[in-house]
Amino acid sequence: MAVAYDSLFIDGGWATPASDRRIDVVNATTEESLGSVPEAVEDDVDRAVRAARQAFDDSPWATAEPAERAAVLNRFADALEKRTDLLTRTVSQQNGMPLSLSEQFEGGYAVALLRYYAALATSTEFEERRPSPLGFDTLVRRSAIGVVGAIVPWNYPVVLAITKIAPALAAGCSVVVKPSPGTVLDSFVLAEAAAEAGVPAGVLNWVPGGRELGAYLVSHPGVDKIAFTGSTAAGRLIGEQCGRLMRPVSLELGGKSAAVVLDDADLDKVTEGLYFASLANNGQTCMACTRILAPRSRYDEVVDAIGGWLGALQVGDPLDPSTQVGPLASAEHRERVEGYIAKGRGEGARLVLGGGRPAGFDRGWFVEPTLFADVDNGSTIAQQEIFGPVLSVIAFDDDEDAVRIANDSEYGLGGSVWSADAARATEIARKVQTGTIGVNGYVVDLNAPFGGVKGSGIGREFGPEALAGYLQLKSIYLPA
Ligand code: NAD
Repeated sequence: MAVAYDSLFIDGGWATPASDRRIDVVNATTEESLGSVPEAVEDDVDRAVRAARQAFDDSPWATAEPAERAAVLNRFADALEKRTDLLTRTVSQQNGMPLSLSEQFEGGYAVALLRYYAALATSTEFEERRPSPLGFDTLVRRSAIGVVGAIVPWNYPVVLAITKIAPALAAGCSVVVKPSPGTVLDSFVLAEAAAEAGVPAGVLNWVPGGRELGAYLVSHPGVDKIAFTGSTAAGRLIGEQCGRLMRPVSLELGGKSAAVVLDDADLDKVTEGLYFASLANNGQTCMACTRILAPRSRYDEVVDAIGGWLGALQVGDPLDPSTQVGPLASAEHRERVEGYIAKGRGEGARLVLGGGRPAGFDRGWFVEPTLFADVDNGSTIAQQEIFGPVLSVIAFDDDEDAVRIANDSEYGLGGSVWSADAARATEIARKVQTGTIGVNGYVVDLNAPFGGVKGSGIGREFGPEALAGYLQLKSIYLPA
């Protein structure tokens, strides 16, 4: 049954929206309405930023004992955990994410992140007395950066919001979140959890809207930092604007990562691991390894193994626990992915598998798991982010050539190396220009920095490094 929200979560309560504009959310599988919410307009953003500003400047939030902020984060985690079922089902219906993945990331990781940053808040030294070689001491102080504008995409809407909220709150910041319009329903569940957890008024606010509203938030004079996850194109615009304003910004952007399959790799293990590394969320994953680099000596074997695995994946309703590949998030996005498949064919790559819409689905934005072989690394499908279940196999001559091809990309976000010899694979992992890379698997670690190099962005999320991104440094010299 479609759900309808009438208010916006601003300043610790449910507020009447400034306009009667609404956002409709459509189920990616049934193409039926899932629900609707009010669309925030500039006046709502002004109110939300004012509330966040006041919570930061005038309330004890930023200066509270870290243990108090940790208690709020832990209560928020508990309130979210209670809503896991609703949240994960909502996400899967909105963007097509198979439920098992949604439970793992939109549920489990989101809750774990809140608890992780609660613990980090209490173990971090926010002020340190440091002896100077000049014979006096300096107080090095880390204090909250201020009001954060958090802009979130549609592919992992819950966990990518929490990835910003959790360290920001641990630091003592207040936050205005702008979710993506296509997956906005889950943000109302997050707001309900925040209210139940007793997050102080103004510390967390949500303004649902599109890119213009996001741009308004980015340049708002009341905001001190922008935390953005989304496309590289939008990230460049936001980075330019923040540069002009001297506003700190973190940019988690697109990717075109490589899975390097070495000549001694066990191909059964490779295909098992590639489900998450290359195809998670139907390929709608920033760090997906969509370029499979295969040694010329075993090229046909790798193509056969990947084709066999991809062809056997179960396509279907993301709410069915056995589904491995669901639909794409929107009709426009499917058109974009299909455009890339046509481009791959046009540029001479060999279509091994898929390429069309799966039989038996007259509704839902499904695309068949698709495999291209004989792909030139310079071609469009090897260089641009497709964001769908489309993989390309590219041949390499030796380990050095594999590294060269992996690095021949505008992006550098994820990656993986597969070999019977973990030390050899790790040596290659060291040489790939990327922010994260896995050896014989790819699992994102909450305790380690995650982010990109080159066109994949600036800054890091997860780990203590993300907390540092919400803190500013001050040195108070204490000359004797
Ligand atoms: P998008 O850039 O179109 O939108 C992302 C968010 O930014 C949305 O909320 C959108 O409304 C807003 N937005 C767009 N243009 C804006 C602007 N000029 N100013 C302010 N806000 C703006 O991206 P998308 O299609 O929603 O998400 C998919 C993209 O996100 C892919 O490129 C993917 O790789 C990337 N992504 C990156 C990571 C990462 O951690 N690096 C994680 C997930 C997704």
